[in-house]
Amino acid sequence: MARSIIGVIGGSGLYQMAGLENVREVEVKTPFGKPSDKFVRGVLDGVGFLFLPRHGKGHRWLPTEVNSRANIFAMKKLGVERIISVSAVGSLREEIAPGHVVVPDQFIDRTTQRPSTFFGKGIVGHVSLADPFCKDLAAKLANAATQEGAKVHARGTYLCMEGPQFSTRAESHLYRGWGAAVIGMTNIQEAKLAREAEICFATLALATDYDCWNEAVGNVEIEQVLKVLQQNVELAQRTIRRVVTALSDARSCGCESSLKDAIITERTRIPKNVRANLKPIIGKYL
Ligand SMILES: [Zn+2]
Repeated sequence: MARSIIGVIGGSGLYQMAGLENVREVEVKTPFGKPSDKFVRGVLDGVGFLFLPRHGKGHRWLPTEVNSRANIFAMKKLGVERIISVSAVGSLREEIAPGHVVVPDQFIDRTTQRPSTFFGKGIVGHVSLADPFCKDLAAKLANAATQEGAKVHARGTYLCMEGPQFSTRAESHLYRGWGAAVIGMTNIQEAKLAREAEICFATLALATDYDCWNEAVGNVEIEQVLKVLQQNVELAQRTIRRVVTALSDARSCGCESSLKDAIITERTRIPKNVRANLKPIIGKYL
């Protein structure tokens, strides 16, 4: 029997996945517009696998422009049960050095311009985001990265900023004071939407620099970021490959029923077109 499908969203530096077999490209239509690009569908060591370059092939979308609703909706439609999101991040802590891997357990959302929910237009839902990452998937991801030889920080708060500029030094110090471990420009919308879609979500964050708070090492430059990233792409691919084979079919983490009591709109008042559009996500509860 075919096992469940794993989805990987690749960030800066990770634009494709090595080792995929039976590869084909899939274009998906969604009620929320076009995903970042075509999906690369294949089989990785016997497991159904779906890859999406977050910024599109050739890196065309700003963090603000990434259509996360379309990306996550399309993954749900294609049967994805778990998403691993790979992201380049800046480190806000001395002990997280460039080249280290962080598997975050919390978020602070400082984005301002992005749609972050599938709900609205006649249907209201409130899911819990107290623990925004799937603990089960995150633990397996951290374990796999460690086994692949990475220096791994198995928890930490991911601060998501709007960008595309890097932060000011005052902001960088502020976020450190808030206890954040890493800073990036994507991920929070994906986590929120994955929770609404009952998909497990975990992040493999690759630290590329010290943001700008650490004046001893100078300000963040994109050239340096990409250089560290290149060195980490292979590690990320090996980690993903290892974790994919460590996942079993059945989920018991709770993500699979996160929407159970979340929809509070009277069922008879939910507009027909909303019902139809959201069917892959809310269908089992209506
Ligand atoms: Zn889960």
